[in-house]
Amino acid sequence: MASEVLSQAGLNVSVYDAMPSAGRKFLMAGKGGMNITHSEPFAQFLSRYGARRAELEPILNDFLPDALRAWVQGLGIETFVGTSGRVFPNEMKAAPLLRAWLHRLRSNGVQFRMRHRWLGWVENDLRFDTPDGERIVQADAVVLALGGGSWPQLGSTGIWQSILSQRGIAVEPLKPANCGFETVWSDYFRERFAGQPLKPVSILFSNQLGESFNQQGELTVAEYGLEGGLIYALSAPVREEIAARGSALIQLDLLPDRSLANIIDRLAKPRGKDSLSNHLRKRLGISGAKAALLRETLSAAEMDDPAKLAITLKALPITLTATRPIAEAISSAGGVSFTELDQQLMLRKFPGLFVAGEMLDWEAPTGGYLLTACLATGRAAGLGALAWLRQQ
Ligand SMILES: Cc1cc2nc3c(=O)[nH]c(=O)nc-3n(C[C@H](O)[C@H](O)[C@H](O)COP(=O)(O)OP(=O)(O)OC[C@H]3O[C@@H](n4cnc5c(N)ncnc54)[C@H](O)[C@@H]3O)c2cc1C
Repeated sequence: MASEVLSQAGLNVSVYDAMPSAGRKFLMAGKGGMNITHSEPFAQFLSRYGARRAELEPILNDFLPDALRAWVQGLGIETFVGTSGRVFPNEMKAAPLLRAWLHRLRSNGVQFRMRHRWLGWVENDLRFDTPDGERIVQADAVVLALGGGSWPQLGSTGIWQSILSQRGIAVEPLKPANCGFETVWSDYFRERFAGQPLKPVSILFSNQLGESFNQQGELTVAEYGLEGGLIYALSAPVREEIAARGSALIQLDLLPDRSLANIIDRLAKPRGKDSLSNHLRKRLGISGAKAALLRETLSAAEMDDPAKLAITLKALPITLTATRPIAEAISSAGGVSFTELDQQLMLRKFPGLFVAGEMLDWEAPTGGYLLTACLATGRAAGLGALAWLRQQ
């Protein structure tokens, strides 16, 4: 986005990337259906950025989700709003969009220099490791958009953290966001139910700060614990709770569409010759992974206690002990602190050096919020660099 802004203004722009081709994580984001932004009201949209809402608001305001959709359309690709309000490019794929985008950038004169790993500076010049040895590059302005720390095999290794920290720039350590969480399953449950969905369910979670969360969605049982959109959405408060207390206790509502009274009522219906499993399946639709999770949690005696069973169906306790490693997360929290930056995303200590994308210290759930903020901050950094260069 920065190179687009700068090249359209007639500047000589080069994009350096450590990988052999551009946009590998962008392509990966398109694999399960590229969710590029969200159509919900803007105030709600902004709230997804939590503690960084204030910092991102002017930048997102300048590149609203509708503007993003128009930008995608400008690349010859229509978008559509899914039932959840999420916005996808037609066919939900990233490759046609990336292809059209790179083509347009190259037509604007942007030079792509791949297999160039940025190592830092020699005095004011940029140092790159290339297959042909080290290369020193001079630039009038620089935009760093080196990504976070997730899926490092796609290029975003986060090595920039030490390079920038050594230069005295405050960097919040990168942490996993939109990630799975670990818990201890019995061998029986793990072996039989890993990979199975739990849906619909709600997670009820209260943290030590007194904040409460109650969100409905879908989970998947993982060998190590839980993954899926619902737990990703709560990954920030759950992660912080584990950091503060060593673990986080969540409760799963396995029947979010039924009240406790309704469940008690249904469990009290005559069971006849039905086993408890059949009774639960017929009266409440509880089977598969949900039924196994109940048995994982309750003793045989507790399973036979209808009151205990009903309460557990509405609030099944699970202790989460750790996040999965950042390399497996969809995105990362932490990054270059906004206190280091001016309104144009320029590092105050290093005039002419701008920062954009996931390497900035913000996080958001999945739902298109990640790419929107990456694209918007890239554009803002490009505009900032343009304004700064003009001033010079
Ligand atoms: C599986 C998956 C699915 C996702 N799905 C979605 C989705 O549907 N919707 C959504 O909004 N977001 C999604 N995301 C998140 C989104 O892809 C990222 O937030 C976004 O790509 C970050 O953009 P970025 O430009 O900041 O960083 P990146 O896309 O990570 O790009 C950083 C670039 O910097 C390069 N680089 C890093 N260090 C160096 C160095 N030292 N020298 C040279 N080059 C370097 C890397 O090679 C890379 O090309 C998904 C992420 C994953 C992993």
